[in-house]
Amino acid sequence: MTPEQILALLRDHSALLEGHFVLSSGLHSDRYIQCALALQHPPVAERLGAELAARMQPWGATVVVAPALGGVLVAHEVARALGVRALFAERQEGVMTLRRGFTLSPGEPALVVEDVITTGLSTRETIESVERAGGRVVGVGALVDRSGGGVDWKIPHAALVTLAVKNYAPAECPLCRSGLPASKPGSRTVAAR
Ligand SMILES: [Zn+2]
Repeated sequence: MTPEQILALLRDHSALLEGHFVLSSGLHSDRYIQCALALQHPPVAERLGAELAARMQPWGATVVVAPALGGVLVAHEVARALGVRALFAERQEGVMTLRRGFTLSPGEPALVVEDVITTGLSTRETIESVERAGGRVVGVGALVDRSGGGVDWKIPHAALVTLAVKNYAPAECPLCRSGLPASKPGSRTVAAR
């Protein structure tokens, strides 16, 4: 699938909205991405996972790891397509950690995947959790990279779609200035990215 086809699929499921939005961070943006609205349909999740897996297959991973919660379904579907394990990392006293008895073999090649990469922070924390568990991260993947590809990973990386999404402080928002009403999609418990 081309990036345009991926965007159309996300729009079809209201996972990508365009307009004027107040994000859970309080910042304003012209786009709102909520991949869970696409991933709630298992055939769509499977298709997106297979697309991302195809791009990362050459890197030879034997396990896929995601930060909970947003990346879990992505890891599961990428792992399904590659025929490998899917794990997730979660915070333990603030530190992203592999819990629940998940283990990696020494030097095991791992992929770290996300639904959306914004700053890359949670992805980096997940990479560190894999390294602490003895694994070796061979690549990073996301359904949507909304950093505009601006994160310097220093390892192979892939995204189905790369977007340069601008966020604005309310006082500096050009959309507010143009008089376009802002909406606040989702809820407090469903964080906009
Ligand atoms: Zn605004």
